[in-house]
Amino acid sequence: MCFVAESSEPHRGLVTFLGTGTSVGVPAIGCGCAVCQSNHPRNQRTRCAITVRLPGGTLLVDTPPDLRTQLIRERVRVVHAVLFTHEHADHIFGLDDLRLFPFRLGHAVPLYCNQTVEKHIRRSFAYAFLDRQETHPGATPRLEFRSIDDDPVQILGAKVVPIPMKHGPHFNVLGFRFGNFAYCTDTNEVPAESRRRLQGIETLVIGALRHEPHPTHFNLEQAIAVARDVGAKRTLLTHTGHQLDYEATNQELPEGVEMAYDGMQVEIDLQH
Ligand SMILES: [Zn+2]
Ligand SMILES: [Zn+2]
Ligand SMILES: [Zn+2]
Repeated sequence: MCFVAESSEPHRGLVTFLGTGTSVGVPAIGCGCAVCQSNHPRNQRTRCAITVRLPGGTLLVDTPPDLRTQLIRERVRVVHAVLFTHEHADHIFGLDDLRLFPFRLGHAVPLYCNQTVEKHIRRSFAYAFLDRQETHPGATPRLEFRSIDDDPVQILGAKVVPIPMKHGPHFNVLGFRFGNFAYCTDTNEVPAESRRRLQGIETLVIGALRHEPHPTHFNLEQAIAVARDVGAKRTLLTHTGHQLDYEATNQELPEGVEMAYDGMQVEIDLQH
């Protein structure tokens, strides 16, 4: 029945936040600060990823080191394709957890990324790309690269618009727009052309590390300024550090801006 419901409303999508924490996660290992010691579930933030339910299946954006526990927590049975923002360890090092999916899909898992990310994944996961025969099925992940650049691309029956951004002075990263929703993590500069691609957005997810400035991430103030500039109606902050307590931060954020949290879901309109 659920299959029928999905196909009768092909323009509807559903985003689930698998993780919303900065690169070391929250709590940080061994940290005694109030947020890391907090029992509040929304101060438990695993490394950043989302799933997006699209007409052709479930798309995973990034494969963080917490991927296995995240997919089990959200009861995701299969991922139909993966899309990558960039190659930092906190966004790719859960790649091996894709090993089960080729059995359920009947084929290799498609990985959509640009050539820079592909090069780093091939190097970091060399065992997955050896020419020799596997000792047994599933010994290594079966993966198939699908090259993307800065141009819009069709993935699982939906149009995905890359949002090129800077992540520090020497590093590029992609955000992605799906209809009236965009996911833009790990950035400290959104160029003018990319802001044009975000115009008219309903929900903008944007990375915001902490109050203080950082050389490769927006702080709260900078992230909110971008959201205002592109006219986002609702802004959700992700990749948040242990400096930000969920309740205290949400109370001081302006109208329409809030912290995302692990397990949060957002309905989106893919036709927008
Ligand atoms: Zn990151
Ligand atoms: Zn801490
Ligand atoms: Zn990063």
